[in-house]
Amino acid sequence: MTRKHGFMVFAVWFVLAAAAIAAPPNKALIVDGQNGHDWKGTTPVLKKLIEETGLFSVDVATSPPKGQDMSGFKPDFAAYNVVVSNYQGDAWPEATQKALADYVKRGGGLVIYHFACAAFGEWKDYNDMIGIGWGKLRQDTGAYVRLRDGKFVRDNSPGKAGGHGPMQPFQIVVRDPNHPITKGLPPAFMQVPDELYGWLRGPAENLTVLATAFAPKDKGGSDEHEPVLFTVTYGKGRVFQNALGHTPEELKSVAFIVTFERGVEWAATGKVTQKVPVDFPTADKASVRP
Ligand code: ZN
Repeated sequence: MTRKHGFMVFAVWFVLAAAAIAAPPNKALIVDGQNGHDWKGTTPVLKKLIEETGLFSVDVATSPPKGQDMSGFKPDFAAYNVVVSNYQGDAWPEATQKALADYVKRGGGLVIYHFACAAFGEWKDYNDMIGIGWGKLRQDTGAYVRLRDGKFVRDNSPGKAGGHGPMQPFQIVVRDPNHPITKGLPPAFMQVPDELYGWLRGPAENLTVLATAFAPKDKGGSDEHEPVLFTVTYGKGRVFQNALGHTPEELKSVAFIVTFERGVEWAATGKVTQKVPVDFPTADKASVRP
């Protein structure tokens, strides 16, 4: 081997090794473009949070605006380990709906962030994937998920789907401490003032409640322990729903950051390798990052 040849081999090795170190192992796709919420403000924060795990490269697929032709909106879901929905708006083309359902059925990960649970009330597969959600089209359908005598049960009584009182701080109580997303978290921890979603309802099949927050009646709530973090098994796929995080301000909450980052990893891989950070909130004190 000549000296020049040796150098070339080293150079190629160096470039490959650097790429291997630099390239995150997983790919995430955030879907947005329409939402009754500030998606233009929250998507960049969600992207930064997923990237800071060091486990993902992140792309964003933005749909046409409300009322525009959606027929060309066809994200390549199958190219990703996890799809994070920050979308609530016009129906997607049938082929795009089928592509997402097929992707999850075959083992893909899906994360439903906050108001994305109010999307697509008319789409059966979406309702099955998210388990419970929000919106007029879900009213009187499916079930609420209620805590009765230490167990989560379906409650089919008719009523609205989705609601919340004024912004308020609330304590999140872990109900499944052995799930990868919640394992190692304290049994209870505080969220910053945020919307506390209640009355979510839907098919609620293959749904596991990871954590709840009590919604007091005198603060506009249901007087129930409302599911705020939960998973759904859909085919071979993993779906995680995080009901927290109304605006970019609430996304500074460590309760949101950590449960979101862990949920994205779990939906993508079935495991959670992230450590619980030292600034994680306690049972009586919320925690925020700048
Ligand atoms: Zn909201």
